[in-house]
Amino acid sequence: MSVLLSVRDLKQHFKMGGGFLRKHYTVYAVDGISFDLKQGETLGLVGESGCGKSTLGRSLLKLFEPTAGQISFEGRDITQLSPKEMRSLRQEMQIVFQDPAESLNSRHTVGQILEEPFIIHGKGTAAQRREWVSELLDKVGLPRSAADRYPHEFSGGQRQRIGIARAIALKPKLLVCDEAVSALDVSVQSQIVNLLLTLQQEMNLAIIFIAHDLSVVKHISDRIAVMYLGRIVELADAQQLYLSPRHPYTQALISAIPVPDPRRRNQRILLTGDVPSPISPPSGCHFHQRCPYATELCHSTSPELRVCDGLAHQVACHFPLSPVEAVPLGKAV
Ligand code: SF4
Ligand code: MG
Repeated sequence: MSVLLSVRDLKQHFKMGGGFLRKHYTVYAVDGISFDLKQGETLGLVGESGCGKSTLGRSLLKLFEPTAGQISFEGRDITQLSPKEMRSLRQEMQIVFQDPAESLNSRHTVGQILEEPFIIHGKGTAAQRREWVSELLDKVGLPRSAADRYPHEFSGGQRQRIGIARAIALKPKLLVCDEAVSALDVSVQSQIVNLLLTLQQEMNLAIIFIAHDLSVVKHISDRIAVMYLGRIVELADAQQLYLSPRHPYTQALISAIPVPDPRRRNQRILLTGDVPSPISPPSGCHFHQRCPYATELCHSTSPELRVCDGLAHQVACHFPLSPVEAVPLGKAV
């Protein structure tokens, strides 16, 4: 599998303020992120709300102009592309949002919504487009008759299928799913995750799957990146991350998932406090105020994301936790 997307030291800082008080401040939403994504691979992106994962997802598609850093898509640095060059590349990279009710135009029929990407990119005759819309509905498991109905006539899960159909219309290579299943019931969540997995196999789609819930991410991801306050703190193969988390924050997130394994229960770290504000992130390691292992070094010096046991596992911590003896998740001992 070759690398599809390569991100290097990406920063997305928003200058805010002005107005009556003339107060200016900077939100460090994404603060130096690097990773690679291979063709057909799924990277889960998790972290508490406000950690910058949605901003990162949008920055990758250049829905925001990045403050600094590189985003290479198939070897081309897209941060350098003009809006016109970017428009044609948009076919290759698409996004599915959390709330399909907001992202689907309620005055248009499903048929019109799904036809739109073809019209924008000047593809096909009216008859061909109608056929393509029918094929898209087949693909996402909706009846062809759905084309003549309106989004509000469908359930939340069905609307998300429509959102996915629209996103895959132009056969993209990259799909960013931003909390795409978070608003759905658990049973519907797994149906949508299964649909994404099927589409991924059929289309060799690379997926960035953003969620705040680790248990959802686990089933779809090949690798998982854990974010904290604008940075990736740990990046590993999905199984490896669950079995042997090395960053105290990751371990705290994982220990919050109930498992019937007493050995894992003993390793529980209870987090206190909330994620600090991205307006004035703490010095050194951003996690030091909540970390039970923090030392002076953690207060003063920011840890780099470094490789630890095995090339695929990276962690940003001065004192990574010892690897845990591997016990398959969910297996009582
Ligand atoms: Fe905790 Fe220090 Fe590691 Fe940060 S660098 S996670 S404060 S031990
Ligand atoms: Mg979000």
